[in-house]
Amino acid sequence: MKAPVYAFFKSDPVFQHIDGRPCHVFTCAAAHCRNPTNTVHRYLDTKDSNSTSGLRKHAEKCWGAEALKAAQSAADANTVRSSGILASGSFSGAIDKIFERLGKGRVTYSHRAHTKVESRAECVRWVAESLHPVGIVGDRGFLSIAKTGRPDHYIPSPSTVSRDLKNAFVKCRNRIAKYLQEYDGALSFATDAWTSPNHRAFVAFTVHLEHNGVPLSLLLDFVEHNSPSL
Ligand SMILES: [Zn+2]
Repeated sequence: MKAPVYAFFKSDPVFQHIDGRPCHVFTCAAAHCRNPTNTVHRYLDTKDSNSTSGLRKHAEKCWGAEALKAAQSAADANTVRSSGILASGSFSGAIDKIFERLGKGRVTYSHRAHTKVESRAECVRWVAESLHPVGIVGDRGFLSIAKTGRPDHYIPSPSTVSRDLKNAFVKCRNRIAKYLQEYDGALSFATDAWTSPNHRAFVAFTVHLEHNGVPLSLLLDFVEHNSPSL
C-alpha cells in the first residue's frame, strides 16, 4: 500500500541518476502545476529516502492544504484516487488559472461546504458588495443553483440575512469610529450635495485618509435633505 500523498503524483516515479546520485522523480498529477517545476526529486542515497515531506509540500501548493488533509485521512493512495478529492482539486486549480489570466486576482473555492455561520456571513458580504436586495437569497433560481446536488445545504432566509446585515453594519460603524478616533494622522472630511432627477436632495459625508500607504475614502453618512426651500 502506498501512502495517500502519492495520489497527487503520476502513478510511478521514474528512476534516474542525477549528478551520479540515484533518484526517484515524481511528476505532479495536477492539470495546472503551481510549483516552479512539476517534478519532485527524491534521492535514494540519503536516510530520508522514504520521507514524503517533499511530496507533501509540493501537493499542498498545487492542491491546497484542505485537499492534502482530506487525502491524508484516507487509507492509501488508491483510496484517494477514487475519492474525488483530486478531481475537485484540479478543477479549482484550473478555475484559479483562468481568473489569473483574466487579471481578476486569485480566486479559490474551498473543497468543503460552508458551515451555517459561514453561509450567513457570505450572504451578508454578497448582498453588501454587489448591492443586491436581501430577497435574492430567497430567489428560486439562486436556490436551484445553490442546492442542486445537495438539497440539505443551508442557505439563510432573507429575514436572517436582513438581521445579520444590520448587525454587521453596527459592528462596522463602531469599528470605523474607533479606527478614526485612534488614527494617528490627518483626516480630511468632505461633503457632497446634489439633487436627483426626481428632485430629491442628498448630502454625502466622506472621510479621506492614508491607510498603509494608500489613499482610503469612506462614506460616513448619506442623508436626504428635506428642506422645503430646495
Ligand atoms: Zn504540482
